[in-house]
Amino acid sequence: MARYKESVCRLCRREGLKLYLKGDRCYTPRCAVERRPYAPGQHGQGRKKVSEYGLQLREKQKTRRMYGILEGQFRRYFEKAERQPGVTGENLLRLLERRLDNVVYRLGLGSSRAEARQLVRHGHFTVNGRKVNIPSYLLRAGDVIAVRDKSKESPRIKELMERAADRTPPAWLEYDADKAEGRVIALPLREQIDAPVQEHLIVELYSR
Ligand code: SF4
Repeated sequence: MARYKESVCRLCRREGLKLYLKGDRCYTPRCAVERRPYAPGQHGQGRKKVSEYGLQLREKQKTRRMYGILEGQFRRYFEKAERQPGVTGENLLRLLERRLDNVVYRLGLGSSRAEARQLVRHGHFTVNGRKVNIPSYLLRAGDVIAVRDKSKESPRIKELMERAADRTPPAWLEYDADKAEGRVIALPLREQIDAPVQEHLIVELYSR
C-alpha cells in the first residue's frame, strides 16, 4: 500500500502542531515543531490569510495525517460515518479510533501509530485469540487485543509492554499488564477521544 515517504516532521510543521508521528522523539527538544515552529518551505514563515475552504482542508489533512490514512481510505471512512446514525463528525473520529493500529497505540504498545501499524502488520497481536495483521481492522466493544505469546520475547515488545503497564489508557479501553492484554470496554464517546480536531470542519469540506 502507498504511504507517505517524506519527513513526517514536515507534516507537523505544516499543520502547526505536534501530531506525534515519530514516537519518543516527539517528547524531546529535538521535535521539529519545537525547534522550527513555522511551516516548511520557502514561504513557511510568511503570514497568509486562510480562507474558509483552507481551514476545512487543513483540518481534514491534519486528521488524516494524525491517523496515517491516505486520501481515498479517509473518504471511505467519511462515507461510512455519514451512513451511520448520529453526528457524522463524531462517527468519523470513532471509526478512526476503532482501528486496530490506533488501539495498539492508545494502549501504549506502540510509541507512535506508525510503529503500532508495523507491529500489527508483523503479526504481533491477536484479537479475541486469533492473529490479526490488518492495521485497519475495526474493533468492537468487548474485543480483546493481546500480544502473541511468542512476540513477548521480542526486546522491543517487552519494552513496550513495560511502558503500557505504566500508562493509563483512555477511559474506553482497559489494559491488563499481567496478561499483556487490552479490552475495548465500549466504543469511545467524543469527549473520550483525545484528538485536537474540529471534525465539523471536515464535514463541511466534504459537504461542499
Ligand atoms: Fe511531529 Fe514528532 Fe516530528 Fe515533533 S518530532 S515534528 S511531534 S513527528
